[in-house]
Amino acid sequence: MSPANLMSSPASAPVEADAAASALMTRFDDHVMNTYGRFPIAIARGEGCRLWDTDGREYLDFVAGIATCTLGHAHPALIDAVTQQIQTLHHVSNLYYIPQQGDLAAWIVANSCADRAFFCNSGAEANEAAIKLARKYAHTVQDIDQPVILSAQASFHGRTLATVTATGQPKYHKGFDPLPAGFEYVPYNDIDALEAAVSDIDEGNRRVAAIILEPLQGEGGVNPGDLDYFLRVRKICDETGILLILDEVQVGMGRTGKLWGYENLGIEPDIFTSAKGLAGGIPIGAMACKSFCAVFEPGNHASTFGGNPFACAAALAVARTLEQEDLLNNALARGEQLRKHLRAIAQQSPHLFTEARGWGLMNGLALQPETDLTAIAIVKAALERGLLIVPAGPKVLRFVPPLIVSAAEVDQAAEVLQEAIAAITAS
Ligand SMILES: *Cc1c(COP(=O)(O)O)cnc(C)c1O
Repeated sequence: MSPANLMSSPASAPVEADAAASALMTRFDDHVMNTYGRFPIAIARGEGCRLWDTDGREYLDFVAGIATCTLGHAHPALIDAVTQQIQTLHHVSNLYYIPQQGDLAAWIVANSCADRAFFCNSGAEANEAAIKLARKYAHTVQDIDQPVILSAQASFHGRTLATVTATGQPKYHKGFDPLPAGFEYVPYNDIDALEAAVSDIDEGNRRVAAIILEPLQGEGGVNPGDLDYFLRVRKICDETGILLILDEVQVGMGRTGKLWGYENLGIEPDIFTSAKGLAGGIPIGAMACKSFCAVFEPGNHASTFGGNPFACAAALAVARTLEQEDLLNNALARGEQLRKHLRAIAQQSPHLFTEARGWGLMNGLALQPETDLTAIAIVKAALERGLLIVPAGPKVLRFVPPLIVSAAEVDQAAEVLQEAIAAITAS
């Protein structure tokens, strides 16, 4: 079948369409770099929290592009904003003032602890900017020749060489030596280990310059930060002048029911990064910091696409809609409702699950480490029943629906999840 034919196959003929979908996937696999293990569906369309594949099958989307589609799919506010912006001006160099970028930076500053923002296109780039800023601060203010950045085990900070090195998971480092120097790891939520590392890493001019942490570890298994731990981390940073960088790429922009994840911890970072949900699925990244550490000068750092009118208009539309539709409160209420369901599932099957955990609409259901059951097996069984969820590591199911999710959709997701678990444990 020629590519033109398979693209126009009618979805109303299921058997035909299945063949077309499999041809589409073969064509994809033959040409796209093999960097993802993919599920065998191709998504064609979305609306709200619903997606449809190329065969016309409907899914309830509790992945949201991995915590990215804040307003779900085809939200009128996002459509209006990007349509209007692309008809007016979609891209212009950072050599000139960009009104939408100024508005977005002003919104971030007015609604966070930061005084300044830098824009780029992804989470990795935002963290890369934070790492560069911390290193420049180390050299120019802290008087450290060989700055060390501490990060947590089981963290995730991105896939560029510096951010993958900051990522405290050896599996992501394998095959990419030599990795950049100046990164060390400590266990998450373990203050004694952090204190020990800070005092151990002090040889001549090699010292800890910054600590980068996720307020809640996403990829590492949906592990919420401990309040006491973060209070102590903040205190260490205050006492030593070490910078505290918080990676808000997954938890920021309302996902936890607070605008920023750090608001759940009662502390403020010196630098934080945002990306995934910031523009609701239009590529964007941001690194924001307090003025005392805003040491970048013209020529130090840059991005061709970063903060262009199109992406910033999308982020501003997300920001407005969070407020207009009271989505932080929806994230809190729907999150509580979802955790109730997940806790009930865990209590029903204590041989399979340990606990449900999370904040707002960032939730995980943890499997018993001893069980043969894997997160991916449940994810596949749920997909076959029309529910999209995503693992966070081998033994945790992650639930990150759009922040517009309704009470009925949360109930439906829990129901389908239970059916999926029942079906695979029966077989
Ligand atoms: C997804 C993620 C990143 C990387 O973001 P990209 O946009 O994929 O580069 C960094 N940090 C955290 C916490 C993330 O969840």
